[in-house]
Amino acid sequence: MSRRCCVVLVPAPFQGHITPMLQLGAILQSKGFSIVVAHTMYNAPDPLNHSTFTFLPLPDEVVDFDNTYMNLLNILDTININCKSRFQGYLVQLMENVELHGEVVCVIYDAIMNFVDDVGNGLQLPTIVMRPFNCAHLRAHRYVLGLRSENCLPLPESQMEETVPDLHPFKFRDMPLLSNEIPDRIFKFLKTAHTIGSSCAIIWNTTDEIENHHLSILREDFQVPIFSIGPFHKMAPPTKTSLVEEDNNCIDWLDIQAPNSVLYVSLGSIVSMDDKELIETAWGLINSEQPFLWVIRDISVNVAKFNSQMPDGFLEIIGDRGCIVKWAPQKTVLGHSAVGGFWSHCGWNSTLESISEGVPMICRPDFGDQLINARYVTDVWNVGLKMEGIVDRENVEKTVRRLMVSVEGNDMRKKAAEMKHKCQESVREGGCSFRRLNELTEFISMLSS
Ligand code: UDP
Repeated sequence: MSRRCCVVLVPAPFQGHITPMLQLGAILQSKGFSIVVAHTMYNAPDPLNHSTFTFLPLPDEVVDFDNTYMNLLNILDTININCKSRFQGYLVQLMENVELHGEVVCVIYDAIMNFVDDVGNGLQLPTIVMRPFNCAHLRAHRYVLGLRSENCLPLPESQMEETVPDLHPFKFRDMPLLSNEIPDRIFKFLKTAHTIGSSCAIIWNTTDEIENHHLSILREDFQVPIFSIGPFHKMAPPTKTSLVEEDNNCIDWLDIQAPNSVLYVSLGSIVSMDDKELIETAWGLINSEQPFLWVIRDISVNVAKFNSQMPDGFLEIIGDRGCIVKWAPQKTVLGHSAVGGFWSHCGWNSTLESISEGVPMICRPDFGDQLINARYVTDVWNVGLKMEGIVDRENVEKTVRRLMVSVEGNDMRKKAAEMKHKCQESVREGGCSFRRLNELTEFISMLSS
């Protein structure tokens, strides 16, 4: 790159979206671009973790912090209305002050921050969409949007176990947003989030090694370059992306556990257990007699409540066999030789992080893309099993043992090692994500001339 080029990133303000965007920033910076991050004040990333990026806060007027799915969609709606004009102001300043960060060549935005494309368009600045979920999920979403526009929702219960045409092996049960109760306003918003407006390319946190089929179809559909350069966390230099402080003491605890013996339990940043599930899980983990590292986010909110909910003498009973933290350094945990299984809600980041380290999974998906991701884990890659039915202590004990100490679980561990190899292949020099990143670098550089 002869001149200094600046890329402006606009992440969506949720952990599972901020993480891949900051990783993408680190990847592009390693290729010579200067990085500016325009972020909402709600769930703002910590600039101290990225001293070489420039951060520009966008006032968003988000006041409601309830983590339900519908509320998350409301938050997005608010942001898409309130951040537009300040963002435009920032871009104009950046474009006028080239000596500060270099020539602004494009804006890369999370697919759900759809106000960005309008602003870029108005300023004749190219925009690129970043998709933090996988390709199968986008195809599933489009399918459901089609059903909705043809007034086919809700579907009869009898259809739920059927395979969706053209989306084998995904079932109707796995499809996102099947409920007929989702308001039109939200559907309208989601429809926009699944198009690319006037954007000139898509960057995807996936790889041709694992999603070649869906990528080929989407490349035909979108007619713009698609750069599948994932898993981002394996392409990026080490990057601190947590919005919450990580408790590193659990690594000392892992250091003294036997190889492949520990079950890591974490439901990501949004999904949580209700009080009953929490207690049943505690009993199930105790009864399984397997060591476990358990992330309970709410523990920080109310330690007294947590203690009062747990089985009597819970902490004494688990002794050294369990470790509980409010937020773990997850990528380090999954890469630790002591970890032999991951009970996950199957967010896409968690799923990629798990397969990249060859860790088999217990899947307990809740909403959104998680059902699609879980189907990949259980039926496509065969690296995990689904926890079916209600979360009671018998079910937890049985499922944990199935993954951690059965022949079946061991087979999944072997398959997970193959997935790890695939991920390594894709990011090594000459691998498919490596090559696509070089294409992306060239593509963005050309935007400046
Ligand atoms: N994560 C973490 N520590 C934890 C729990 C989660 O660092 O204790 C990270 C995890 O590594 C992943 C992200 O939070 O990168 C969660 O994203 P994901 O897409 O899996 O789920 P979401 O939170 O969006 O539901």
